[in-house]
Amino acid sequence: MTSKAITILGSSGSIGVSTLDVLARHPDRFHVFALTANSNVERLYEQCVRFQPRYAVMADSASAEVLAKRLLAAGSSTAVLAGTEALETVASSPETDYVMAAIVGAAGLLPTLAAARAGKRVMLANKEALVMSGQLFIDAVREHGAELLPIDSEHNAVYQCLPVSFTSPPVTSTPFTERSRSERGGSERHGGVEKILLTASGGPFRNWPAADLQGVTPEQAVAHPNWSMGQKISVDSATLMNKGLEVIEACWLFGLSADRVEVVVHPQSTIHSMVSYNDGSVLAQLGNPDMRTPIAYALGWPERLVSGVAQLDMFATARLDFERPDTGRFPCLQLAYEAHELGGFATIALNAANEEAVKAFLGREIGFTDIPRLVADVMRQADRGTPMNLEEILVQDQESRSRSLSWIKNKKKH
Ligand code: NAD
Ligand code: MG
Repeated sequence: MTSKAITILGSSGSIGVSTLDVLARHPDRFHVFALTANSNVERLYEQCVRFQPRYAVMADSASAEVLAKRLLAAGSSTAVLAGTEALETVASSPETDYVMAAIVGAAGLLPTLAAARAGKRVMLANKEALVMSGQLFIDAVREHGAELLPIDSEHNAVYQCLPVSFTSPPVTSTPFTERSRSERGGSERHGGVEKILLTASGGPFRNWPAADLQGVTPEQAVAHPNWSMGQKISVDSATLMNKGLEVIEACWLFGLSADRVEVVVHPQSTIHSMVSYNDGSVLAQLGNPDMRTPIAYALGWPERLVSGVAQLDMFATARLDFERPDTGRFPCLQLAYEAHELGGFATIALNAANEEAVKAFLGREIGFTDIPRLVADVMRQADRGTPMNLEEILVQDQESRSRSLSWIKNKKKH
């Protein structure tokens, strides 16, 4: 067995750290080719000393200089590169086999797309990249023979519960209807799949009365009850925008229309998602809430690997509860469905506005309940239809960010 070379985009983050934890358990199967971070020199330095990658990339060039000096002084042979183009270089290098896409937000789009275009195994945590680029990304995966494996725990769970004929090879996105017609000659769904049930914890404010949400602080919003994650996704989980982005992600990954992706609030986060079949069966994937399970699954696929996650104790779990999401208190989920219905430009605007809104909320410039207001306003100003190329995607992203910043400025004046 030849050792696979791994690039981790965003190795200093929560998913990046969990990925290295799994890799360290399998030194004979994997080696690290490149690690990347935005500006966290300390974390990347420690990771380079331990995993000795060929390259370390820092998006921020001042940070790259500091890292290079420190690594040189430590006698490390890791070469340090700076800037966003270098992220694409290491993601698409012929010397890397697998790419973990774990940068947060739109900043991950170009390197993740570069990995797909270079035909890599793309392990996708960076859902924003897929929400922004949709069909363009899926086409790149298909055209270049890349393997797309979902890391998001829900999509990884769905992937595990889908029929083998559906997920192998792991370029999952052929719309059910298309496949049904060509492969089954009738209206029956491919593999009998009726619906995907995406589970949601409901976040830290699941039981809060609507009136109290106005006063939510950043500290309260980032304290997720079940998962330990980066700040942005923690806020997204609190507003339910994370689930909204995941609905769009599921539509692209599994070739589904949004009416066949249903969100089920499940506060224990033990079931990571489910697939509902035409014979009445529902298959679920369960486990402790620890991202090392989906990471190990994607690294090992089609085999399973030890991940370091403890076996689920069913007796300690005891209960599994389910509720409908409350889109009155948490409108972001509905906004995501609406954006997907409107088309690609609207989903880009939704994502960009949300990123700017979360940043402003964390910076105490706007309140928690302003997040869905800002997103709704900016999303509804987006062009109709779907972008045809990367440039159109990036232009819509920039325009939506400027509109968001004006919205925030305006809000602060009043
Ligand atoms: P994080 O904030 O902990 O880490 C983000 C990483 O991206 C860091 O390494 C950071 O240096 C890098 N980064 C940030 N901005 C950058 C920029 N402009 N240029 C280059 N690099 C940049 O985030 P996370 O929780 O690890 O999440 C990463 C992605 O995975 C997100 O898209 C998130 O939605 C997704 N995800 C995370 C989890 C989780 O449990 N943390 C679960 C499912 C999906
Ligand atoms: Mg998730």
